[in-house]
Amino acid sequence: MDKALLNLKSTRGDIILETALDYIKDKSNKKVNLSFGAIMAEDGNYYSFKSVNEAEKIVIEQYKDKPYIFTNGTKEFSILTQELLFGKNSKYMKEKRICTIQTIGGDGSIFLAIKFLKSLNIKCIYVTNSYYVTHVTMIKACDLTPKYLNFYDSNLGDINYDLFLNDLKNIEDGSCIILQTFACNPCSMNIKEEYFEEIIDIFLKKKHIVVFDVAYLCFGNSSLEKDVLLIRKFEENGIAFIVSQTFSKCMAIYGSRAGALHIICENKSQRQSVANKLCSIAEASYGTPSVHVNRVICEILRNEKLKSSWIKDLCELSEHINNKRILFLEKLEFHQKKYNLNYEWNKYKKQRGIFVYIPLIGKIFEKLRFYHIYIIHSGRINVSGITKDNVDYIADIICLCLSEL
Ligand code: PLP
Repeated sequence: MDKALLNLKSTRGDIILETALDYIKDKSNKKVNLSFGAIMAEDGNYYSFKSVNEAEKIVIEQYKDKPYIFTNGTKEFSILTQELLFGKNSKYMKEKRICTIQTIGGDGSIFLAIKFLKSLNIKCIYVTNSYYVTHVTMIKACDLTPKYLNFYDSNLGDINYDLFLNDLKNIEDGSCIILQTFACNPCSMNIKEEYFEEIIDIFLKKKHIVVFDVAYLCFGNSSLEKDVLLIRKFEENGIAFIVSQTFSKCMAIYGSRAGALHIICENKSQRQSVANKLCSIAEASYGTPSVHVNRVICEILRNEKLKSSWIKDLCELSEHINNKRILFLEKLEFHQKKYNLNYEWNKYKKQRGIFVYIPLIGKIFEKLRFYHIYIIHSGRINVSGITKDNVDYIADIICLCLSEL
């Protein structure tokens, strides 16, 4: 072993984990960690949903066993998670064309999708230029090549639709693309509904394969229906596609590792072949998914009372976080005057999701640590960690540090 370990090549650690460790070591009562992607409550603890806690209580009371479940999860889990995305009247569901597998959170789902695409002899996968780092890490780890589509333009503070749509039109037919369409991590943009038809036209003509990464359900528009609209429009247009779904953020159950991968197939018999392939990839990677979280999610989605209370709280939470972003940007506007700064903060007000993405603030991430404010170098800030009590301190220190640039 000693000798074998000598061959270990050094790799960089996880930035978010390293930031969290530095934060834990910091003894200041002013400290605030805005670096990671979980939703914080006003009291500084993790936010949790009453409906999810209630479902968990029911599951614990009802089941004393924890058996293995099948590699793809359970039929009920598949149907309930499909219904959430595709709707009760889904044609694809009626035709039994959706192959679903329960996954180890959203990352597990993306990993399976990439491995599955690789098994189809696909060599490269596109992501947008403002990408979730793990997508690229996984594409490379699977020995595929990541390629980048124009998407976010930091000068515009928006998606550059001309460049994005042009790229979609000009890449090779049948290209694979991992796409977030709302509350995108990190750029925090929603793709505007007015571009949906054009996107659909391009996918119909070019026969691209999209993997929709649905990580922040409801945080895009504070509405489940609006957030899944593009997915449903793809279905209306008869396009086959893939969806990676996670319950980490929308149910605030990050460590429970609950997710699903849905692949639209030609017909029921192809669905069986896809299921066999996905199960063989899962078996070779980690085995079977968690029974406990399967039961909790089924309880919430099956129980109409819990489900509607969950969705109502989720939409309210999304609005609440959006109001925090606006408050934060207004405080930056206010505090910058003291330092004779004249930055344009309003353009960030159109962002959605749990982050506010301001690359300029990324430039001072090291200086901010000196004042016990922890963010990552990209300038992606977890806006849910900003509260009425700390917002003035954070905005003031950011302006102070910017004035020293
Ligand atoms: N996709 C995106 C865009 C994310 O931001 C995240 C988590 O931050 C994931 C997928 C992974 O989700 P999970 O934590 O469920 O693995």
